[in-house]
Amino acid sequence: MNGAATILWFRRDLRTGDHPALASAAASGGVLGAFVGDPALLAPAGPTRAAHLVASVRALDASIGGRLVVRVGRPEEVLAGLAGEVGARRVVATADFGPAGRARDERVARHLGERGVDLELCDSPYAVAPGTVRSRTGEPYRVYTAFRRAWEALDKARPRPAAAVEWLGARSEDPSGLLSLAGRARPDYFADLPDGPAPVAPAGEAAAHAVLEEFCARAERYGEARDLPGLEGTSRLSAHLKVGAIHPRAVLNAVGGASAPFVGEVAWREFYADVLYHDPDSARAPWRGTPRPLRADRDGAARERFAAWARGMTGYPLVDAGMRQLLAEGWMHNRVRMVCASFLVKHLHLDWRWGARWFLWRLADGDLASNQHGWQWVAGTGTDAAPFHRVFNPVRQAERFDPEGRYVRRHVPELAHLEAPDCLRPVGGGLLAPGYPAPIVDLEAERREALARHAEARGRA
Ligand SMILES: Cc1cc2nc3c(=O)[nH]c(=O)nc-3n(C[C@H](O)[C@H](O)[C@H](O)COP(=O)(O)OP(=O)(O)OC[C@H]3O[C@@H](n4cnc5c(N)ncnc54)[C@H](O)[C@@H]3O)c2cc1C
Repeated sequence: MNGAATILWFRRDLRTGDHPALASAAASGGVLGAFVGDPALLAPAGPTRAAHLVASVRALDASIGGRLVVRVGRPEEVLAGLAGEVGARRVVATADFGPAGRARDERVARHLGERGVDLELCDSPYAVAPGTVRSRTGEPYRVYTAFRRAWEALDKARPRPAAAVEWLGARSEDPSGLLSLAGRARPDYFADLPDGPAPVAPAGEAAAHAVLEEFCARAERYGEARDLPGLEGTSRLSAHLKVGAIHPRAVLNAVGGASAPFVGEVAWREFYADVLYHDPDSARAPWRGTPRPLRADRDGAARERFAAWARGMTGYPLVDAGMRQLLAEGWMHNRVRMVCASFLVKHLHLDWRWGARWFLWRLADGDLASNQHGWQWVAGTGTDAAPFHRVFNPVRQAERFDPEGRYVRRHVPELAHLEAPDCLRPVGGGLLAPGYPAPIVDLEAERREALARHAEARGRA
């Protein structure tokens, strides 16, 4: 071995190409690649996200000749132990900007520092690191369009070639052990909701690049197809971006010129990470400066409405199709995410955090910043500048974005024999669609109730 061993601590960067932290680690000698299964971070992940993570870890391990070292435990203890085993004085990692990740990194840096080992953080899981984009007066942006303009004007690094690495080895645990750490923080309102993982799509860096390449061939049509859930109009890169099997640099570099609307969606990911960075409490509480949240129901009837929503049994076809896609695939189309989230908050009068938690539990791409702020946007407590009065009507949304009923019929078999528009409207409880439920709420009555609660929250009722 030339020079001292360095530990590359993999977290949300499960790849070897275009990896500045890895290049830095490799510059001084052999590299020990480590992935630490942190029970605290895995507890709120449901079975699908955990399965996708394990598949991504396995793929990374295979790509470095089976030399990835997987260990379970508190990161500071695992890393200090590993540094002692291989005589490393330096641990390098891609910086994390989420609230839990930042707190963990401070703890780890202290613990390692006391033992004479440096923690070096570089790069980020974003094209522009959260906290970087500022207005002329140095303030963070509160509105997406202004953020995007400033974000687009910034120079972004281009993907870098893979570094030559001499991989070291050490005792490793089987990555499937991570599965048993996931799902321990299961809230009681999930009660007996389905708990099995959805099938996991091919994971890892090579799979992510294959998805990107396939998408590039249809990227020019993204602008017109992205809102139609019946088509394969979007990239399906989200779960790969979540674990860093691919970096947004590579995605923007490949697609940027072909589709401005696509760049705009990646910018939403960057915006929400920036918003969460400046206001870590907004993962759970209403975002800074927004109205108080709506009064939410929590009684037994509320839990029943939640269960009907989560199972895709509300009687509203587009909502049920989305919620069943989430169960079956661990992914949901963005337009339908908005409709399902709006339905939970504005028609079922439930706490947005219940819905957000179910999404995080079931989504393979479950990501704190994008999910919590996607939900806050819909709930009217987030960064959305539009008035609260805009309430998505799930029937009209279906007629507009799934006019032929392709999406609804694909995911709700009880409606598969019906033509549009019949399959887009509540039909349940009758002979037309046996087994499909009657609507659990009346849209107009609940819309009025939501507006009344909104007025109440603003102190005007
Ligand atoms: C209520 C709600 C919850 C959401 N939860 C998550 C989540 O947990 N994880 C997650 O990655 N995305 C989340 N999103 C955003 C979006 O729905 C998904 O990123 C998108 O559907 C993923 O599919 P795709 O990769 O085919 O997207 P594409 O349309 O191909 O977009 C490309 C990439 O841009 C980013 N992106 C696209 N739309 C958004 C958006 N609205 N907000 C933030 N980033 C975006 C994603 O990284 C995505 O992979 C949520 C949206 C809503 C409304």
